Amino acid sequence: MKINTYPQRESWSELIKRPVLRREKLTKLIAEIFKEVEQNGDQALLDFNKKFDGTELKNIKVSEEEIENAESLISNELKEAIQKAKENITKFHTSQITEIEKIETTKGVVCWRENRAIEKIGIYIPGGTAPLFSTVLMLAIPAQLAGCKEIILCTPPDKTGNINPAILYTAKLCGVTKIFKTGGAQAVAAMTLGTESIPNVYKIFGPGNQYVVAAKEFAQNYNVAIDMPAGPSEVLVIADQQAIPEFCAADLLSQAEHGSDSQVIFLSTDEEVFNQTIKETKKQLQELPRSEFTKEALKNSHFILLNTIDEALEFSNLYAPEHLILALEDFEKHIPEIQNAGSVFLGNYSCESAGDYASGTNHTLPTNGFAKNYSGVSLDSFVKKITFQNLSQKGLQNLGKTIEIMAEAEGLFAHKNAVSIRLKQENERV
Ligand code: NAD
Repeated sequence: MKINTYPQRESWSELIKRPVLRREKLTKLIAEIFKEVEQNGDQALLDFNKKFDGTELKNIKVSEEEIENAESLISNELKEAIQKAKENITKFHTSQITEIEKIETTKGVVCWRENRAIEKIGIYIPGGTAPLFSTVLMLAIPAQLAGCKEIILCTPPDKTGNINPAILYTAKLCGVTKIFKTGGAQAVAAMTLGTESIPNVYKIFGPGNQYVVAAKEFAQNYNVAIDMPAGPSEVLVIADQQAIPEFCAADLLSQAEHGSDSQVIFLSTDEEVFNQTIKETKKQLQELPRSEFTKEALKNSHFILLNTIDEALEFSNLYAPEHLILALEDFEKHIPEIQNAGSVFLGNYSCESAGDYASGTNHTLPTNGFAKNYSGVSLDSFVKKITFQNLSQKGLQNLGKTIEIMAEAEGLFAHKNAVSIRLKQENERV
């Protein structure tokens, strides 16, 4: 943990840095993995399973039998929890469906947009250190609501060559059509290029570690779209005098436990809350089963004492956290000041885990400062919007002159003529 009291503004640029791998090294590795998958297809994936996941498999595709068996391997309690989360996520994402609105921009000129689902999508479910079946809900539910026809899923197998049954159960529940045992950059390469077993897709979704994020960026060289750079998790907590140190510490640790490359930031204006939260974080850390990752993540994390809440919000906007928690008495007052954040949690009882699992919002969010220019996953991420227009004869008469003048001024006479020829014919007919 790095502790900073009242740091000078000049040092903020250092404090907002994420613990990322060296870029050149990573890009070279990703290019090699893509080449290997392009040349050797499924065999490359099996070889990578052995190398990175320590498992020897014969088949990449999860069998129908494995999917069917999954249901009996998880408890009813967990199934009910998944069902409850599914209901809330469905409710929130259904509210994002918009009606078609036809707009008459000029008399006789009508324009509108219609959504079309992306036909083939791939979802990546992290599985390296934790089987994130919650991410299946976050991606497959909006994909199904949007109407995506083919939803395939890739996730790394565990050491015994299996996929966690909760992932398989949730995938089936949410309409995933095919599931594959492959993870990391090679899974992204396979969904981009296609292999004997894995079909290529038009857009790849899902969070992952730095290899996954870099591979998704690389996939764009092959005309495949991606949701966003959703990498190692982050949370930034801003706490005032009424914040509860035990709650703040629990929230910080909940993100730090994701992986050693995660980062958490604690900002406070109150010395007592600040010191107690540091103490409490150390205490709760001892009780966590994933403390080896959490300890590593805490090494990259900052606890910063600042003078005012406005200053803390300024810092937060500069950092652009994936998750922002306002443990503030008057959080409503500060909402308009939030400029850059993936998802915001307001007040002492809005723990970030709620959004991770079951409140209804999506947990696939931009990290590494990308909350400055990306939104999290939503229903819109799964559709393309096509514009339509219909000009009646009267409409073209009304707008024609404007188009002709502009086309002529750009020197594009064929454009002008496409209007003139219609107006002329109309005049001759009258
Ligand atoms: P993962 O599935 O992302 O990665 C595991 C895979 O990484 C392995 O299968 C392997 O193929 C590859 N890999 C591991 N070491 C490698 C190496 N040395 N070289 C090449 N490839 C290697 O699972 P994970 O590692 O547990 O990471 C999950 C990540 O997802 C965490 O960083 C977590 O913070 C993040 N996450 C982000 C969000 C978000 O919305 N941004 C949500 C949930 C999780």
